[in-house]
Amino acid sequence: MQYRYMGRTGLQLSVLSYGSWVTFHKQIEDNSADRLMGMAYDAGINFFDNAEAYAGGESELMMGRVLKQKNWERSSYVVSSKAYFGLRGPENKPNQAGLSRKHLFEACHDALRRLQLDYLDLYFCHRPDPNVPMEEIVWTMHQLIQQGKILYWGTSQWSGAEIMEAHKVAQQYKLIGPAMEQPQYNMFERFRMEQDYLPVFRTVGLGTTIWSPLAAGFLTGKYLNGMPEGSRLSYSNFGWLKDRWLQEEKIAKLRKLMELAADLGVSLPTLAIAWTVVNPHVTTAILGASKAEQLEENLKAMDVLPVLTPEVMQRIDEILQNKPRLDLA
Ligand code: NDP
Repeated sequence: MQYRYMGRTGLQLSVLSYGSWVTFHKQIEDNSADRLMGMAYDAGINFFDNAEAYAGGESELMMGRVLKQKNWERSSYVVSSKAYFGLRGPENKPNQAGLSRKHLFEACHDALRRLQLDYLDLYFCHRPDPNVPMEEIVWTMHQLIQQGKILYWGTSQWSGAEIMEAHKVAQQYKLIGPAMEQPQYNMFERFRMEQDYLPVFRTVGLGTTIWSPLAAGFLTGKYLNGMPEGSRLSYSNFGWLKDRWLQEEKIAKLRKLMELAADLGVSLPTLAIAWTVVNPHVTTAILGASKAEQLEENLKAMDVLPVLTPEVMQRIDEILQNKPRLDLA
């Protein structure tokens, strides 16, 4: 495993990490979560990602039970949570979601209780909230750090301009600004990481804990011959994911990527994951896996890095035809 400093902080994260969205509580129970987190940790993964909204808090409860059972040294791993969506989706009452001081404060306490931890290493604003003044968000996150409840705060799916606005407020009041962002990044979703955030990387620095390196499983090729039972896209409430990924143009590109992977003698998932971490602005790529075989396979991505020569990267770009116009950045 390799480790990278998270942006301009002194915190080191493993280049591959492990997250619990959809899988924990919905697809897997405690014994599988225990096995998968154990495999991840033994492979050198030191960051486990979570959020209040995952399975309505059940994902944090499950990770908390596993961590307690494992009894690993607290200094050897990093845990995150995120606030914004609340626990109850459309049933949230006012103040039970969003980025108000009240919700950020309460969600942080609830995450600590569910995860059975004294502090969160990383705490994310899971989406921007245009209804809350930036001053309120930055002050609250700064105060949570001062209270010792979180160590670093960050954002998820914020635009580069929104992150810069948070830094402006932090500089104005001498507060701690966001240290990391959690964007989607994979072969089909490149704009944020490869264009929008470039000025942020250059000026204030930003660590990134990127999500869906496999486009929710699409980049394994598993959906090319029907819908595997129990897979993420087979769930009725993930129709929006089907619409996002199972598009003719993307499928055509996926077939070409599969041919390229076969040509190179590697699997498509390992190639796709390795492709994300070749980008030096990626601190860590969060893996999702509902089965031990998947995690075992995906961990091999580190061995595939040498395959990604400039020529191979060029061939991938020719297939994808979606490289952002870096000259505009
Ligand atoms: P991926 O794109 O890697 O998708 C993971 C899913 O793909 C697995 O759960 C599994 O689903 C399938 N899969 C993975 N490996 C294989 C394989 N080798 N062969 C076949 N199928 C495979 O990541 P996620 O979308 O899960 O994102 C990773 C993490 O990022 C999440 O757990 C969460 O912590 C975080 N996240 C954050 C978001 C945010 O807004 N900040 C949003 C989304 C995720 P299955 O078995 O069900 O088919």
